Amino acid sequence: MIRAKDKTYQGRCHCGFLTFSVVANIDHARVCNCSICSKRGTMNFRVPNDALTLNTPLDGLTLYQWGSKTAKDYFCPNCGILGFRRPSLPTKEEQERGIQPFEAGQ
Ligand SMILES: [Zn+2]
Repeated sequence: MIRAKDKTYQGRCHCGFLTFSVVANIDHARVCNCSICSKRGTMNFRVPNDALTLNTPLDGLTLYQWGSKTAKDYFCPNCGILGFRRPSLPTKEEQERGIQPFEAGQ
């Protein structure tokens, strides 16, 4: 669902193999406290699955999973840039705050 404040953002890795667009109103960023985000120092913003348009097929990307293997990090196989994450379902606290899952129903 596109809302009035939504914008289309274009994303790509360093070498340009991985490209995507996201339609969202990015008005904040979240600091994730998981082990890998802590090491990376990354910040993130969740969007519903239908807000992301991939121009590079998922099976062309490198997948990394760890721990409970519920989250999926997708990397460019050429330059190694992390393009995006398909996280686990939101926690009960996240659902109460109204944060939408990346993929509803999975
Ligand atoms: Zn690349």
